[in-house]
Amino acid sequence: MTTPIERVALTAALPEAFHVMAKPTGAICNLDCQYCFFLDKEQLYPGSHFRMRDDVLERYISQLIDGHRSEHVIVAWQGGEPTLMGLEFFRRAVALVERRRRPGMTIEHTIQTNGTLLDDAWCTFFAEHGMLVGISIDGPAAMHDRYRVDKGGSPTFERVMRGLRTLQRHHVPFNVLTTVHHANGDAPLDVYRFLRDDVGAEWMQFIPIVERSGAPGDATVSERSVGAAQYGRFLTAIFDEWVRRDVGRVFVQTFEAAARRWMGVPSGMCVFEPTCGLAVALEHTGDVYSCDHFVEPAHRIGNIREQQLIGLVASPQQRAFGAAKRDTLPRACLACEVRFACNGECPKNRFITTADGEPGLNYLCAGYRQFFNHIDRPMRLIIDELRCGRPAGGVMALLAASDAELARAVQRAGRNDPCPCGSGRKTKQCHGRS
Ligand code: SF4
Ligand code: SF4
Repeated sequence: MTTPIERVALTAALPEAFHVMAKPTGAICNLDCQYCFFLDKEQLYPGSHFRMRDDVLERYISQLIDGHRSEHVIVAWQGGEPTLMGLEFFRRAVALVERRRRPGMTIEHTIQTNGTLLDDAWCTFFAEHGMLVGISIDGPAAMHDRYRVDKGGSPTFERVMRGLRTLQRHHVPFNVLTTVHHANGDAPLDVYRFLRDDVGAEWMQFIPIVERSGAPGDATVSERSVGAAQYGRFLTAIFDEWVRRDVGRVFVQTFEAAARRWMGVPSGMCVFEPTCGLAVALEHTGDVYSCDHFVEPAHRIGNIREQQLIGLVASPQQRAFGAAKRDTLPRACLACEVRFACNGECPKNRFITTADGEPGLNYLCAGYRQFFNHIDRPMRLIIDELRCGRPAGGVMALLAASDAELARAVQRAGRNDPCPCGSGRKTKQCHGRS
């Protein structure tokens, strides 16, 4: 029995809100994407039917809602492929949420899916409940089908597009999740323009594929992985197009997060925050893990059939997990000029050594450093616009004017003169390149 003072101390230590990625089918999926880090998690539950039982579902929904002190709760489903549970499961989930929600509480239902099983019945349901649907798509057909194949090794692009078009016919809000890998990493504008113009996506997430392929302690990555510099170039090229023509109408999660860091507020992405630990993964059995990327025995923090979700999120083990993101940063990160935006990114990618031999540097460091430095000036312009009470989109006119001015200066410069952009290179090797 806790005393009143202990209860006050406990409440003060509890987060107001937290995020749970619930996996009702565990790792089970109808596809066999070659880079999927989750498929082999099936081995954690030998003999399981990989379907969340109703008693686990009930506990989950009630503990999720009761564990929130904030009035906004996100109910997020992921996989594996969550639609394999069938529509009735989600009808029960929504009904449970409605029964449990407190007056005034806003609920955001989200589901991440490969889109291949979506039909009119699913999309009618999503539209009815305002469910936000995340669709995994890696770009135009050739890039998407390079790794996103089904169990028979067949391409999936057509099926994903059919699901997407069904969502659109039903006016379901959706975003796209695009992984960046060896097959699309050198084609940022093809990917971005396809998503923007052909798919009609207004919300985009880009997730780097980094697969370690060597022995523990070895920094080798698979041939499917994106290169660090390649990822930096990918983000930079898309940013340059976005900041000149799409601000305010297309939302790229990494750019939104960066803008928030430039404003000095939390980014909204765990990977760019100093600490993490407020986004746990829930398996179909009720097991809770520290994070979607750490679904492994050492990071199992409990089970909601035995403990309350909020207690697990606030447990010493989970707090230590979240604090380690900050406390294990190498000196190179501590001294880095863009640490305020990067914060060493996700610990799962910190497996290379710094120039002076310290372990724990992020594999993607070179790309992030280049990207965050590159966006500094336009980000400052965006923040100035916002601080003056103007829309962020004003940056597009400002950049158009300075681009035109630079073009005139380049025309006036000799080919061997320093480039007027200030790069330090000769004009002919920089903006004067024909
Ligand atoms: S380990 Fe990485 S993905 Fe997981 S919560 Fe921390 S930063 Fe986010
Ligand atoms: S850019 Fe590199 S050095 Fe800088 S904080 Fe990120 S990972 Fe660390």
